Amino acid sequence: MADLVRFKNTVDGQSCESVSSRWLASVNPYTGEAWAEIPHCDADDASAAIESAHRAFTKGPWATMTATNRGKLLRRLGDLIARDAEKLAAIETRDNGKLYAEMHGQLRYMPEWFYYFGGLADKIEGGVLPIDKPNLFTYTKKEPLGVVVAITPWNSPLLLLTWKLAPALAAGNTIVIKPSEFTSCSTLALMELVKEAGFPDGVINTVTGYGHELGSTLVEHPMVAKVAFTGGDATGAAVYAGAAKHIKHVTLELGGKSPNIVFADANIDDAVKGAISGIFAASGQTCIAGSRLLVQRSVYEEVSQKVVAFAKSARLGNPMEETTQVGPVTTLPQRKKILDYMDVARGEGARCLLGGGTPDDPELAKGWFVEPTIFGDVSNSMRIAREEVFGPILSIIPFEDDEEAVEIANDTIYGLASGVWTSNIRRAFTMADRIRAGTVWVNTYRAVSFMAPFGGYKMSGIGRESGQAAIDEYLQTKSVWINLAEGVANPFVLR
Ligand code: NAD
Repeated sequence: MADLVRFKNTVDGQSCESVSSRWLASVNPYTGEAWAEIPHCDADDASAAIESAHRAFTKGPWATMTATNRGKLLRRLGDLIARDAEKLAAIETRDNGKLYAEMHGQLRYMPEWFYYFGGLADKIEGGVLPIDKPNLFTYTKKEPLGVVVAITPWNSPLLLLTWKLAPALAAGNTIVIKPSEFTSCSTLALMELVKEAGFPDGVINTVTGYGHELGSTLVEHPMVAKVAFTGGDATGAAVYAGAAKHIKHVTLELGGKSPNIVFADANIDDAVKGAISGIFAASGQTCIAGSRLLVQRSVYEEVSQKVVAFAKSARLGNPMEETTQVGPVTTLPQRKKILDYMDVARGEGARCLLGGGTPDDPELAKGWFVEPTIFGDVSNSMRIAREEVFGPILSIIPFEDDEEAVEIANDTIYGLASGVWTSNIRRAFTMADRIRAGTVWVNTYRAVSFMAPFGGYKMSGIGRESGQAAIDEYLQTKSVWINLAEGVANPFVLR
């Protein structure tokens, strides 16, 4: 293990190993070999990081810094991320196996969140209230919550962290970050930029390790005011329950089973590309995966054939190479889960139109690859249409008319995203109204922006990230009452 790259945590501004001096290996999904090590932290590390964040929140330069200067720090961090985008993207690809082109695109876009929320930092306003009681001057203030714990998944480690970090810091909170144990390296590398940008010690801390032993300790710690979590819905429910013990604020960004709906009046070639980008980009490992392709029956055969032909041509390979279109999946347990779902789908009577296993190309033998897989004749009651797979498996489901499309689209416990492909403007707006999901894309798919709120309906989550409202997720409102009159009224009744 001597030549593995070692990444360290940052607590109270200091680079550190874990208290127990244990390490965890980080494995490259393309080679199947460990390439780096991260500290294996436990409850002792969690306490030290939270106490550091708490000190920074209550004392020291951050606690008294003007919002304008907070904003400047955020913008400086954005500049440094832009400078080091290539380096950080390469670390992410080595850790999670997603295409370098995808990770680099995310890294290049990420500074915008720091610029946007850096700009918002000094525009957080309360108000003077026109109050109905005489001689009282009453106003509201918006204040930060305190220590925020940010827990992130493995699929887009830095982007999903940024969605929490930028608004949380703009609002004046301090942070403890726990990245996924599978993909912690880019977050630890980011901390060098945090230092260079000049954030005071303790404002941003990291701890790395397993969710069940470290994550739950962070969530339940009494000094933590808020948990911002992205991950699976079962973990999200455990986080929600843990946070409830001390009535913490929570944001939960969870999974999905998003419908991507193709009407017969759509531009079919565009819809086919939308279907592909919905499920095979990032090897299906995205929360917004359009894993249920709903196709109007009159174009069902045409769309199915075209989607299969397009997916068949996808080039699997080294995610670092520009010509690769589909990389490996991130973890070995995830690959097993995906392959098991293929058996489930076959067992339930879905017709396998493409893929259905692992590729037999010897060049790919060491990596954790799964074939782009498409099942036809799927009924929405099958497990393959109901449960989140988080892999490159597309289920194609036929429908007759608008009514049935809405019914199938909404017949899910999730509500994260959706796509509608149509050339009929009335249909586009009506579907956008009727689909119960936090995002509806019409004639496009997988668009996100720092300006647009993102989050789930139903079991896809609570709260929104990005857009102006995201900063409110990290603020609380205080009402201040100033008595302008002499004396105190009857103390035994409500004023
Ligand atoms: P996961 O739920 O297994 O893990 C997410 C994070 O939670 C990791 O850091 C993990 O260590 C931690 N964790 C695990 N158990 C914990 C516990 N008991 N207490 C506290 N923390 C714990 O998710 P994953 O497998 O890393 O990521 C895939 C999931 O994330 C998918 O379900 C996907 O849909 C979801 N996701 C959602 C979004 C979104 O924005 N809605 C984005 C990306 C991924």
